[in-house]
Amino acid sequence: MRYRVPKREFEFVLREVMNIEQLTQHPGYEEVTWEMLQMITDQVAEIAEDIWLPSNQIGDQIGAKFKEGEVTLPPEFHDAINAIRDTGLVTLFAHQEYGGMGFPTAFEVLGDEVMCATNMALATMTGLTKGAYRCIHQYGSEELKALYLPRMVSGEWFGTMCLTEAHCGTDLGLLRTKAIEREDGSYQLSGEKIFITGGEHDLTDNILHLVLARLPDSPKGVKGISLFLVPKFIPASDGSLGERNAIRALSIEEKMGCKGSPTCVIALEEAQGWLIGEPNHGLRAMFSMMNHERLAVGMEGVGIAEIAYQNGLAYALDRLQGRDLKGARYPEQEADPLIVHPDIRRMLLRAKSLIEGMRCLAVWTGISIDRSQIGGATREANGELVELLTPIVKALCTDLSCEIANDMLQVYGGHGYIREHGMEQLVRDLRIAPIWEGTNGIQALDLAGRKLPRDMGRLLRRFFHPALEFIELNRDDTNLKEFVEPFAKGLRGLQKTSMFLAQKGLGNPHEIGAGATDYLRQFGLVALGYMWLQMLKVAFAKCDDEEFYEYKLITGRYFFERVFPETISRAVAISAGAKTMMAMPDAGFAGDYRFSGS
Ligand SMILES: Cc1cc2nc3c(=O)[nH]c(=O)nc-3n(C[C@H](O)[C@H](O)[C@H](O)COP(=O)(O)OP(=O)(O)OC[C@H]3O[C@@H](n4cnc5c(N)ncnc54)[C@H](O)[C@@H]3O)c2cc1C
Repeated sequence: MRYRVPKREFEFVLREVMNIEQLTQHPGYEEVTWEMLQMITDQVAEIAEDIWLPSNQIGDQIGAKFKEGEVTLPPEFHDAINAIRDTGLVTLFAHQEYGGMGFPTAFEVLGDEVMCATNMALATMTGLTKGAYRCIHQYGSEELKALYLPRMVSGEWFGTMCLTEAHCGTDLGLLRTKAIEREDGSYQLSGEKIFITGGEHDLTDNILHLVLARLPDSPKGVKGISLFLVPKFIPASDGSLGERNAIRALSIEEKMGCKGSPTCVIALEEAQGWLIGEPNHGLRAMFSMMNHERLAVGMEGVGIAEIAYQNGLAYALDRLQGRDLKGARYPEQEADPLIVHPDIRRMLLRAKSLIEGMRCLAVWTGISIDRSQIGGATREANGELVELLTPIVKALCTDLSCEIANDMLQVYGGHGYIREHGMEQLVRDLRIAPIWEGTNGIQALDLAGRKLPRDMGRLLRRFFHPALEFIELNRDDTNLKEFVEPFAKGLRGLQKTSMFLAQKGLGNPHEIGAGATDYLRQFGLVALGYMWLQMLKVAFAKCDDEEFYEYKLITGRYFFERVFPETISRAVAISAGAKTMMAMPDAGFAGDYRFSGS
């Protein structure tokens, strides 16, 4: 399996399209110069390409091992973690007061992309630690922050996220784990969690579990959930490890992919924990972690899609089969390479145009997070834009990337299906991404059911306004015209389906549920269209300088010709409404067989 960090692409998006250097004018980001970002990118690339990538297949083949409550990971995983610990890269994005370097999220998402491309199983564990850090930072007491954050930042202690129970996945209101207050102000937690990523392992001395649980007499449902920090070892105030807490792994799951990431059943047997945030407001605190994770999961998609693309491309250039339909392209060879065939080019160009669009969308979301933290007049607007884009980045990037990974396997033909080339691992590893952190169906409901109607469409306008402004400013641009026109139509179509869902949804919530997934895809493709317009604008301005920009024009044109039209079919599907979908009686789904309940 080969992989090179696409540095030129990173520079294009970060610097030329999103103008990341503007951030240096703001306090806290003064040191984030382009030279600094380049230096760090080189360092990340070296570690990812030379250490993380070789560990990936080993993680798949050996996987996490469970024995008597302990989980061991392959030595190569330890080397991979040590590499980012020793170079201080773990600390990059944390606040300076806790030992971090305070780098922008716009850059962080690309770091996530690289780490997920080279070892997604491992990247999920470092990603969860970053999310847990943010949650404790935002909602934890000063004592908790002082004790735990510096050790998370240094990579000595990892974090987890403990929501799921056997009977409670999407519907967190069903949660049963209990917490009782102790005399010393801490809490005692009892219950069982399942599917906990990194719930036990030997990569770090301590593991910090962020656990959702119920206090006695708390309201039923999601309004009665609180959040607790439950460390594996209870540290003394100086951070030295104390007694083993009563939280342990009972087993790990056998699963389809991401085998190097242990997925644990975790028992809490009167374990000691500390409240994070307010009692009964645990979900709000947990959401600060989940929103971070949703963006990171989107980058799992982009990362795997990128490595799959790089390998699909290399294979298409190398493998000789058949002849160009117009006659032999390389008559001196026994056959032409796969890349001469239009159907292979279709898959490669679809992948390339989507990956570049998705990366740009994620960086735009990242830089909007950074801008929302800077303050000033645009703070609120940027925060609202991030709320709108988060479910789109999570679901769109993971769904499309699963399609891309499958297509790139297809480029290999039968050689993709066998283990040797590693393509089937990419497909298996990525398949979890549309499921965890809230399934993509739930992301779609979040977008269509919560974000769309909020304050009479206020969040939607955070996207529509800049997009409409772009159209106005560039409508007569001779170069861009060809792209602005279809985009303007696509945007109008999205405005129409938004109105349709908002109106129909008022009277009948099934309309929202029935249209949500198509709506997210339609919205996502329009958002990618907006990203492509911005990329094309830069590319037209510079296309005499470097071939890179010429290639951008072809890729962007492919996107608008062959990918963007899907917005139309999605709109048509939405306009059909919920009627037929709901008309089928439950019993009608079966043929002449019957399941209980049907
Ligand atoms: C490998 C792995 C690692 C994981 N890591 C973690 C972790 O670290 N921490 C953690 O807490 N959890 C973790 N999970 C759990 C994961 O987040 C859940 O599996 C996921 O949220 C879905 O819950 P569920 O599996 O119970 O499915 P269910 O909730 O039973 O959903 C089944 C299907 O029904 C749909 N559905 C459910 N409710 C609705 C609704 N109201 N409207 C429309 N559709 C609905 C879903 O979209 C899904 O398609 C992990 C899971 C796996 C497999």
